[in-house]
Amino acid sequence: MTKKVTIYEKVSIRDLFDGNTNRRIYRNILLWNVNLILQGQASIGNQFGFTQLGNWLIEHHRSFIEEYAGSHLTKSYRLHAKRNYIQSRLDDLIGLRLIKKEGTMKSEKNKTDTPIYKFTPGGDLVGFLLIASKTPRNIQDESTHRDASYMALSIFNTFLKQFESSTFLFLSNFITKCQEKELHTSDRFIRFMRDIFPHLYISADFNVRMSRIMIMSIPTLYPELADTFFQTLNELNEETKRLLLFQFKIDIETDYYYPYRTISSIVKEWELMRIQNVQDYSKVTLSGYCEECKSSYPFVQDIIKFIQLPDIFVVEIGADPETMQEEEATTVLQKINCLKCRKENSLVIIPNWYAVEGTEPMINTFYATREPEI
Ligand SMILES: [Zn+2]
Repeated sequence: MTKKVTIYEKVSIRDLFDGNTNRRIYRNILLWNVNLILQGQASIGNQFGFTQLGNWLIEHHRSFIEEYAGSHLTKSYRLHAKRNYIQSRLDDLIGLRLIKKEGTMKSEKNKTDTPIYKFTPGGDLVGFLLIASKTPRNIQDESTHRDASYMALSIFNTFLKQFESSTFLFLSNFITKCQEKELHTSDRFIRFMRDIFPHLYISADFNVRMSRIMIMSIPTLYPELADTFFQTLNELNEETKRLLLFQFKIDIETDYYYPYRTISSIVKEWELMRIQNVQDYSKVTLSGYCEECKSSYPFVQDIIKFIQLPDIFVVEIGADPETMQEEEATTVLQKINCLKCRKENSLVIIPNWYAVEGTEPMINTFYATREPEI
């Protein structure tokens, strides 16, 4: 007998949102719990055993239903046949910290120890975001959609409040303000939470610097949230504002050595200017080249004005007009007025903030994309 080996890729949290049918099993596991919560049949932090989950999946997971349609196999045999498959997916979700193992219990049947699992707040958050991302088809759906958005937002805010860093505090204030303005149920806001959460949650996608860059790019990517973003920033207490902007400053200035991006003749000049301004959190030291007067030079800019520039974090993905397939992404260059010759929109800012260990900027900033223009 030959052993059939199925190789599957490890998933990331971001993958769970992409609609790929191979991920449906993960989504169904998470949805099982949040649907019960929305129906008032379970509470946050629900515990479960493998058999409970397995039996539910055998009855509700579409590919299992299709596989056993018209079959006379008993439910317990079906579960037995799918045990390894379900267990491996459950283990993946544990690896992503969306579910955790919470001790063991004695099984009634054979008195052996069987594990107890629990959905983490992260798992519930992803589940609620999955529901909130669906387009409502009727009034009932709309109400479920609203409840799921509310739950997602509330778990996200509790998650952010655990940390005392200026970045998380700012984000938490921003979300509260969005909620006050009732922006939180819009599709775009759900999209925003889906984009940012995988970067903040400790799992395979975790990258706190990229999450800060993403926070800085909120006004660019979600123009409808820009006013709320700057309002939140202005209302921060002086100390938090100083800490946040200083961290942003470091993130913007940090990767200047990126070999394909920096103009080598002005690196030293730029470094000297940076150290002169190192204590001033309200300014970033940048460099650029002018297409008109052909000069390259470092310069200092107000950090808020910098974040307000429309194209600093933008990557454009082209699309082939015939096949409608997306083509390679290109970084959009931000141009401002030249400080030397005064020509408008001629000074190209070198996007140092993108570079991370030789990786192309667009790979790290896949989230900073505009829809393809066809
Ligand atoms: Zn110039």
